[in-house]
Amino acid sequence: MGTSLRPAKFDAIVIGSGIGGLTVAALLAKLQHKRVLVLEQHFTVGGFTHGFSRKGKFHWDVGLHYVGDMGRGSTGRAVFDVLTDGQLTWQAMPNPFEKFVYPDFTFAVSTNPQRYQADLIQQFPQEARAIRRYFRDVKQGAFWFGAHTMIDLLPDWFAPIARLGVRHLGAIARQTTQHYLDRHFRNPRLKALLASQWSDYGLPPSQSCFGVHSLIVTHYLRGGWYPVGGGPAIAAAIAPVIERAGGKIIPQRRVTEILLESGTAVGVRAENAAHPEQEPDIYRAPLIISDAGAINTYLKLIPASYPLPVRQQIQSFPKGSSALTVYLGLKDSPQKLGFQGENHWIYATYDHEHMARLPFLPSNAPWPQFVYLSFPSLKDPLAQGHTAEIIVMVGYEPFTQWRQQAWRHRDQDYQQLKAHITQALIDFVETRYPGFATLIEYAELSTPLTVEHFDASDRGSIYGIPCIPARLNQSWVSAKTPIKHLYLTGADASSLGIMGAMMGGVKTAGLVAGPLGFFKTMATIMKEAKSMPPRSVQTVAQQSEEASHSYSP
Ligand SMILES: Cc1cc2nc3c(=O)[nH]c(=O)nc-3n(C[C@H](O)[C@H](O)[C@H](O)COP(=O)(O)OP(=O)(O)OC[C@H]3O[C@@H](n4cnc5c(N)ncnc54)[C@H](O)[C@@H]3O)c2cc1C
Repeated sequence: MGTSLRPAKFDAIVIGSGIGGLTVAALLAKLQHKRVLVLEQHFTVGGFTHGFSRKGKFHWDVGLHYVGDMGRGSTGRAVFDVLTDGQLTWQAMPNPFEKFVYPDFTFAVSTNPQRYQADLIQQFPQEARAIRRYFRDVKQGAFWFGAHTMIDLLPDWFAPIARLGVRHLGAIARQTTQHYLDRHFRNPRLKALLASQWSDYGLPPSQSCFGVHSLIVTHYLRGGWYPVGGGPAIAAAIAPVIERAGGKIIPQRRVTEILLESGTAVGVRAENAAHPEQEPDIYRAPLIISDAGAINTYLKLIPASYPLPVRQQIQSFPKGSSALTVYLGLKDSPQKLGFQGENHWIYATYDHEHMARLPFLPSNAPWPQFVYLSFPSLKDPLAQGHTAEIIVMVGYEPFTQWRQQAWRHRDQDYQQLKAHITQALIDFVETRYPGFATLIEYAELSTPLTVEHFDASDRGSIYGIPCIPARLNQSWVSAKTPIKHLYLTGADASSLGIMGAMMGGVKTAGLVAGPLGFFKTMATIMKEAKSMPPRSVQTVAQQSEEASHSYSP
């Protein structure tokens, strides 16, 4: 009724331009010569890899602070090189790249896993055996978690058998992280230290499965990398690959419904997010891929009239955590205080469970009890102004009272609460690093409502479906859906993080390619990546000079 009908000039439609969506779109374009339409509800593409600037000189990332396993020759690096036609440069973080900062003790994590292990043994010699075992076990845990995420690549008749096999053999990945740590370690400080990166997957040790803990730990065993130009450089480098094949990325197009005909996905209805009063558009294509997350896809985009038994399970599954982020513009280089670009995980106690449970409301002092501190400008040779970010995990509930109020039009109470939170987070860092507060020129806070608004993720969740042990039993956490020609991609189709969501994109592209498609896709990627000329450090420096205008207002 008055809706403009467009001819099907695309071979596939991808809902959402996060790293998962961009990956599948670029691979379909490059390896399968498909014209792909990517529809993004935000005005900036990239999903959690997008960034923003203030005052023309301060630039921040929203959901990318470091990526592991990006050394030359690694699988992740090969995929990124192919996706971006080698147009993206990765900058290694300094060594040590992480500092776990506890009240009486700071542990610096080396980019050399043997050194990391030796440093732990030196601090806790009485637990040397368990530490050696831990380094073997995280590799196993990561392997089994990874194996689990690949089950949906198997033919439907074989997947249940494989699931049983993985469940049996990969029991190590299914226990909670707390269970593993309690079983193998005695010293509570050591247990806490090994769980220090839990915000990287959003769940304290009692809730996370050891598989996801292992995945993250092994992901960062050789250090961290950062894309030159920041997170937005990723979408900027991938977009031409999609467009060259006749594809298109349209921002501010919010998909409101996946269109089904006889149980087959045939298109989407999308509204102009800037002008929702306008008539929606209908886009048709023989293949629909959603990067909008499992909850959005199953509960909001597939018509409610379509019978789906998994809906109830999805509705009742525990929700993922969100975060508060303070974006800081600095007057001067943080190097003046000794920071080199490494991450700082600052903890007020060794009790992660207590810290994770604390309600953040300022009346319930003391809060916060932990933060993650990072310095984007020290990682990016193109940065103009110096910046920092302070992040802390929170739930969504304390913010629900403002969810109906529009972005930038929320009431005074919300603004006051934000000001209070901002100050509390800065004060917490200041107690550990005196002088930090005097560096600050600009501060802005994002809440779970901000995340929900810009990423459209359910309740502002930052990692998608939470990696509790029960996630491993859910058939709907998969790239396949029960609907013909409809697939999922990104974090909920694989695993969380930039690398996890990107591999979700590779997986979906492989599934679409048919039997053994994933393995053929990976083989092509590895071959092409090998033939690419290495990017030299000089290129980074040259880019830094050439593109120094890239953050201008
Ligand atoms: C604060 C924070 C810090 C993080 N730090 C790191 C880190 O340092 N390293 C790391 O590896 N990972 C990190 N992550 C996690 C990582 O960013 C994500 O796991 C990953 O980017 C998810 O990618 P995705 O493609 O699955 O989804 P997303 O990036 O969430 O993309 C989904 C896209 O779909 C769009 N969309 C949703 N609904 C619709 C619709 N109806 N119509 C059109 N478009 C729609 C959204 O706007 C969004 O662009 C962090 C995340 C956050 C938020």
